[in-house]
Amino acid sequence: MTASNWKKILRQLKSKPEKADKFIKHNKPKERKTGIAKKKCERCGRFGAHIGSYGLNLCRQCFREIAEEIGFKKYS
Ligand SMILES: [Zn+2]
Repeated sequence: MTASNWKKILRQLKSKPEKADKFIKHNKPKERKTGIAKKKCERCGRFGAHIGSYGLNLCRQCFREIAEEIGFKKYS
């Protein structure tokens, strides 16, 4: 699927409830129990380079952008 979020496509089917039901049945991604797709960045939705420590749940790129805002200091 090319859309970054499958629910974006579902939004287009708001006026067609039967088609939306069918879309959910056949196109909803599986709930993952293991693997890289289980954890997702809360800010951008990226799967790779996940930082889960301190309950951050961000990718490294988002962490770099907002680290100082959330109280991290760079000592080097
Ligand atoms: Zn991110």
